[in-house]
Amino acid sequence: MNRFAGAFAALCLAAAGTAAVLVAGPAAAAPACSVDYRVNQWQTGYTADVTVTNGASAVSSWTLTWNYAGNQSVTSAWNATVRQTGTAVTAQNLSYNGALPAGGSVSFGLQGTYSGTNATPTDFALNGVSCGDPAPPTTTTPTTPTTPTTPTTPTTTTSGPQPAGCSSAAICDDFEQQTGSTPGGRWTVGAANCTGTGTVAVDTAVAHSGSRSVKVTGQGGYCNHAFLGTSLTGVGSNHLFGRFWVRHTTALPTGHVAFMAMRDTADNGRDLRAGGQNRALQWNRESDDATLPAQSPAGVAQSVPLATGTWSCFEFEVDGAAGRLRTWLNSAEVPGLVVDGVPTPDIDQQWLARAWHPAVTDLRLGWESYAGDADTLWYDDVAVGTARIGC
Ligand code: CA
Repeated sequence: MNRFAGAFAALCLAAAGTAAVLVAGPAAAAPACSVDYRVNQWQTGYTADVTVTNGASAVSSWTLTWNYAGNQSVTSAWNATVRQTGTAVTAQNLSYNGALPAGGSVSFGLQGTYSGTNATPTDFALNGVSCGDPAPPTTTTPTTPTTPTTPTTPTTTTSGPQPAGCSSAAICDDFEQQTGSTPGGRWTVGAANCTGTGTVAVDTAVAHSGSRSVKVTGQGGYCNHAFLGTSLTGVGSNHLFGRFWVRHTTALPTGHVAFMAMRDTADNGRDLRAGGQNRALQWNRESDDATLPAQSPAGVAQSVPLATGTWSCFEFEVDGAAGRLRTWLNSAEVPGLVVDGVPTPDIDQQWLARAWHPAVTDLRLGWESYAGDADTLWYDDVAVGTARIGC
């Protein structure tokens, strides 16, 4: 619980004319979720206390979406990040209330304005799965016009367009919720094997979305690894899609570098790494140092450089069951960064020299240099899900 919940509950109890709506899935099957959306409204405004109960398996982060029928406009929220585009609303957990076990509930609140009828929202869905249609409101009793006491200091108020992919991805982070200098919440900073002078910090000077990104100041040398990492538990480690925006400063060098690593539990916990070599993007498998593409001139020519001084959209698909890997840069598939199961000289022949069925369990973004190459990078709008997210 948090320090605002008590005050808000007291506010609801004190206010006259509350309306409660219970939303639940069909009775025939266990509902994926249920939503209790309790409104306290006056002539032009309202607050809503929203409690969502997760009926499915445990999740480490949650996104609740719904649609308004009228002209309701959310103006602030607490205990969730709430965004609105037209009549569609998306509420996401904050760093401290993302974990939701099966059968568990979480509550958040919002305040908004409306005119006409403040109809009950519809199309509630938790992490993309419908909670079912709402039941009719039990009561709707507008009160005399008063302005309720606004809950003190909302933890987060966010408006504007959400990053692409946030509606469907299990993980989607634009870092706008970060309040400190070191990334927190689902993110941890560090490198398991060797840390040095590389740094990771929330940055307010450069951002792809909003006003925040994460800046990685990567230094040369193996023992200056610097990463921002998060678990992929609950995402579907055997077949996943990732997307992030990256902006860097120094062109990919001749030497081997990595800007992304994922622990592969099906490969003795060794990393599956994305980065560069010979001035072009490449994947590298830590366990046997295989590269994709092969580092022959013909192989490297099938990959592409990573532009400096501008944001690039990096997308990947890791399909463990099929043993396949695909990569897109700014929405275009990179032919040299594809493992398609059929050994192709200069591309995935070396990669497919042994059986490979990855199961990755974390995502780390940062910098790892095996020669002496340094770079400064920014990351923003990071998303991971089970379907392609897009840029
Ligand atoms: Ca951002």
